[in-house]
Amino acid sequence: MTLSPSTLIDQNLSGPRIGVFGGTFDPPHVGHLVTAVNVRHALNLDQVILMVANVPWQKEGSRVITPAQDRLAMVEAAVAAVPGLVAGETEIRMGGPSYTVDTLQVLRQEVSEYANATFFTIVGDDAAAGVPTWERFKELTGLTELVVVDRPGAPVALSDDIHWIRVEVPHLEVSSTDLRSRFTDGRPLDYLITQPVLNVIRERALYSTPIGSPA
Ligand code: ATP
Ligand code: MG
Repeated sequence: MTLSPSTLIDQNLSGPRIGVFGGTFDPPHVGHLVTAVNVRHALNLDQVILMVANVPWQKEGSRVITPAQDRLAMVEAAVAAVPGLVAGETEIRMGGPSYTVDTLQVLRQEVSEYANATFFTIVGDDAAAGVPTWERFKELTGLTELVVVDRPGAPVALSDDIHWIRVEVPHLEVSSTDLRSRFTDGRPLDYLITQPVLNVIRERALYSTPIGSPA
């Protein structure tokens, strides 16, 4: 039987409400953090996991991706001082391509606090358009609520067949793609990436140097 979202909620009234915000986070930026914090508040979530993709299968082959352990270190730094946000290493530990349907099952099985959690899978609308193509999509809809936030730019049409929870968050025109090109051409990174993340980038000599403004 496939559980509808409302059934899931009814059955988990006493369990924690856990957001799962997956991404490549190459690098993590304020758009990710503002989204996670605001969705957590709007949906009264106990925790939002910024789940670091191991091998982002949609992006494979299109560019060089920063090693997963470096991306995890950046996300850990990004969330360290933010209540309710945590970095997720499950997909890196699982290895291989990252499929949300597998991730949620492993979280539920391996983490005792998540045994009766309600999961909320959070995506920006650019990613949401592709969600129906995700691995074992039907099974996925029985495991999680689906949450979508708008990103700046033309609105993305989403299928009416899917039950989406829409959450308004401040629209920040920030992307990891733009940040990577800023590293390359030396434009400022200030206020787009938080200082703890910049520190990790410096320590690990990620992207190109020099980064940020001169000290
Ligand atoms: P890239 O440019 O490399 O694709 P990105 O900035 O889109 O990077 P991802 O790691 O691909 O970041 O995105 C992870 C999730 O965060 C996706 O669901 C994406 O839609 C969402 N997201 C990324 N940037 C923003 C933003 N500025 N506002 C809201 N959601 C965002
Ligand atoms: Mg993206």
